[in-house]
Amino acid sequence: MKPASLSKLRALFGDRMQENAPLSGYTAARIGGPADVLVFVHNADELVQAAEKLWEMELPFVLLGGGSNVLVSDRGVRGVVIINRARLLKFNSQAEPPSVTAESGVTPNDIAQRAARLGLAGFEWAASVPGSLGGAIYGNAGAFDGDMAGNLIAVDVFDRQAGRQTWPVERLEYGYRTSLLKRTHPPVILLSAELALRHGDREAIQAKMEQFSAQRHISQPPGASMGSMFKNPAGDTAGRLIEAAGLKGKSIGNATISSQHANFFINTGQTKSSDMRALIDLAQKAVLDQFRIQLELEVEYIGEW
Ligand SMILES: Cc1cc2nc3c(=O)[nH]c(=O)nc-3n(C[C@H](O)[C@H](O)[C@H](O)COP(=O)(O)OP(=O)(O)OC[C@H]3O[C@@H](n4cnc5c(N)ncnc54)[C@H](O)[C@@H]3O)c2cc1C
Repeated sequence: MKPASLSKLRALFGDRMQENAPLSGYTAARIGGPADVLVFVHNADELVQAAEKLWEMELPFVLLGGGSNVLVSDRGVRGVVIINRARLLKFNSQAEPPSVTAESGVTPNDIAQRAARLGLAGFEWAASVPGSLGGAIYGNAGAFDGDMAGNLIAVDVFDRQAGRQTWPVERLEYGYRTSLLKRTHPPVILLSAELALRHGDREAIQAKMEQFSAQRHISQPPGASMGSMFKNPAGDTAGRLIEAAGLKGKSIGNATISSQHANFFINTGQTKSSDMRALIDLAQKAVLDQFRIQLELEVEYIGEW
């Protein structure tokens, strides 16, 4: 980055900014080279200001919530990475139906746990989805028969062309683990969202979340990962196909296809992203060669490859 741009960023962000910062500490897989500049935002207004300035300066940037659905390259990110810690949360318990308004850096777990304490149901499925609400809306995260498309009423966005706007859920054109934003990458940032909930019994809500969490512990491997690496193709699962291709337990460097669930790729220690990507390519090729099925990545590549 040009020294003049760096000086301007230092003046703008002060101690909310780090330079040449390794991204491995900001991703669930604990993988990733440095960002030229890392900027932390703590509310929706700071997020808008940061995006506005970076667009004005024509500096490329990537926004990360929990970094739980991305693979960052070893070379890292040229430009700026914004880490979203905008975490304001407000329940509208008296509304009919009840709802919650949350900034995009809130964790789904936080929303689900606090909703449970208020006797508000409907978001139990999200309690154990890592990352931020923004990432979940972007990718239409889902589990246990729930997904963001099912809860989202509307989202406040910051659009480079149109400014701050409220979009009804339909504008995200949701599909399975995808949205308009994920498919087309417009310069649009998710600031906050309103989610529909419903009245329920506190103990029943808590019990449901505990049951989902227990199911996860049985079916998903521990260790640093990005969750499901590939989307499930129609009528099948990526895990079954990778296992049937004989790749369960396969490693390249310290990147390993879990021997418990073959759609989970684990960083077993200081993994290079190039090794993780080589393992992804290997799995994709093996499944294509053996079953004529093209596995589609759920995870996104970020940075300079
Ligand atoms: C152990 C494990 C289990 C998982 N289980 C599930 C599961 O059950 N179901 C599921 O769907 N996923 C699951 N995931 C994947 C991941 O948790 C979700 O995709 C999550 O919603 C990603 O959120 P994030 O904040 O970490 O996104 P990030 O990885 O930080 O970002 C992902 C993408 O979203 C964009 N983005 C993030 N925030 C915003 C914003 N505010 N505005 C615009 N764009 C934004 C980023 O730029 C990036 O392109 C799992 C992951 C792990 C590690």
